Amino acid sequence: MSATATATATATKRLPPLIIGSGISGLTFSTILAKHPNYPKVFGTTKPPRVFDAAKEFSAKLGAGLSIAPNAVPALKQLGVWDEIRAAGCEMDRVCIFSESKKELGHMSGDMYREAWGAPLLTIERGLLQQILLKHAQESGVDVQYNKKVTSITVDKRSETVFITFSDGTTETGSMLIGADGAHSITRKTMYSLLGTPEPPMRTRGISTLYGISAPIPQIPLGHTQWVMGTNEIWGTWALANHKTFWFINEYEPEKVKEGQWFDDADVEATKKRFEDRWFPVEGVGRFGDVMRDSDRCIKVGLWEKSYEHVHAADGKIVLMGDAAHPMVPFAGQGANTAIEDAVTLANLLLSPAASLPTIAEAYAAQRIPRTKKIVDFAGLTGTLQMGGGGVVRRVRDWTYMTPRWVLERSMGWLYGVQPRIEGL
Ligand SMILES: Cc1cc2nc3c(=O)[nH]c(=O)nc-3n(C[C@H](O)[C@H](O)[C@H](O)COP(=O)(O)OP(=O)(O)OC[C@H]3O[C@@H](n4cnc5c(N)ncnc54)[C@H](O)[C@@H]3O)c2cc1C
Repeated sequence: MSATATATATATKRLPPLIIGSGISGLTFSTILAKHPNYPKVFGTTKPPRVFDAAKEFSAKLGAGLSIAPNAVPALKQLGVWDEIRAAGCEMDRVCIFSESKKELGHMSGDMYREAWGAPLLTIERGLLQQILLKHAQESGVDVQYNKKVTSITVDKRSETVFITFSDGTTETGSMLIGADGAHSITRKTMYSLLGTPEPPMRTRGISTLYGISAPIPQIPLGHTQWVMGTNEIWGTWALANHKTFWFINEYEPEKVKEGQWFDDADVEATKKRFEDRWFPVEGVGRFGDVMRDSDRCIKVGLWEKSYEHVHAADGKIVLMGDAAHPMVPFAGQGANTAIEDAVTLANLLLSPAASLPTIAEAYAAQRIPRTKKIVDFAGLTGTLQMGGGGVVRRVRDWTYMTPRWVLERSMGWLYGVQPRIEGL
């Protein structure tokens, strides 16, 4: 790039960025900017970053549970949110895996995460995690605005700015736009149209998931998680705080799974009915129906994945992060963690005062696409294996649960041992 282009690109960073989406990635990213001593220098303003979200208002009741893994924990510690997240979540102590014929296939210990990668595997209600991140973002000065659905995005080449329009007819201008707007991102659509390339479709493995949050179940020891691995189906729980659980039913339903689909109440009830008499491996509980009884937030969705090969357009003025860049199936528990990694990586690059936007965007793509592609693929393959469709797949699956801890530690270091840090904070 020429010296003039570099100078222009640096100068255009002097309007605050526009951040679309107040999910895990948008809130983490905006908080890093707001707290960072380089933010005023790089963006030439003391005005806080602004985040716009389509939701009418914040709700702690959206979504069920998420895992926070060691790869995201150091950054959360640097942001000063980890202690609160840890107190609101539940550290996984033991995962017990059973076959549908009630045989224990294997177990994993939470100590492995703490000892090998320096942090626990923590499960938390998505709403509580978001509430904590939102509180810290606002305390750091981030201006989070709800009921702001972005309906169009244009890039003005002459003024080198990004212009967005909301469904209420209002508009905003920024030096760049960060699309942290989830799996069905309007930013991604705009990016592909600017690139002049058709947006590739997402991929399904035909798996649906029904999940909910149970009332407290005192019989399940705190931190204990149990899954029953069937044929083309899995049911089980993840432990949450106060003996609540984040329970799930995964089914192979290729004919039913449609992109962006939320199943209707009748389907939710039919699935619950199908599974209510299923065995559940905790003494004093017995039936899976006892787990689901009195539960909150039952949602059934089809699972989709895609590792997009592009994450920026318009000379770096449009950049994607989180699910907008790499929606993934939940079998690796990495949706939130990769979103946090993206936020840290992009913030580190942007807050280095000498760099130009095109250079930053290229470096971001080079650092994030190979890693997130590997994680998307790993999550998808894990899903296919866990669902245990064919006889051979099922045998391989059951055998993997006997993997000794030292093998797991060696084979999972690429995922949990890579722990991005926020530079200069
Ligand atoms: C309602 C909801 C419930 C979820 N529940 C679970 C769950 O139970 N378990 C799980 O593992 N994962 C869940 N997820 C996904 C999980 O949050 C993400 O995989 C992960 O945290 C990555 O987050 P993200 O910030 O990239 O995107 P998301 O968390 O999806 O956040 C995207 C945000 O962008 C906003 N947005 C989208 N389009 C626009 C627009 N046009 N204009 C303005 N704002 C827009 C959305 O309102 C949303 O707040 C859920 C996501 C959502 C949105």
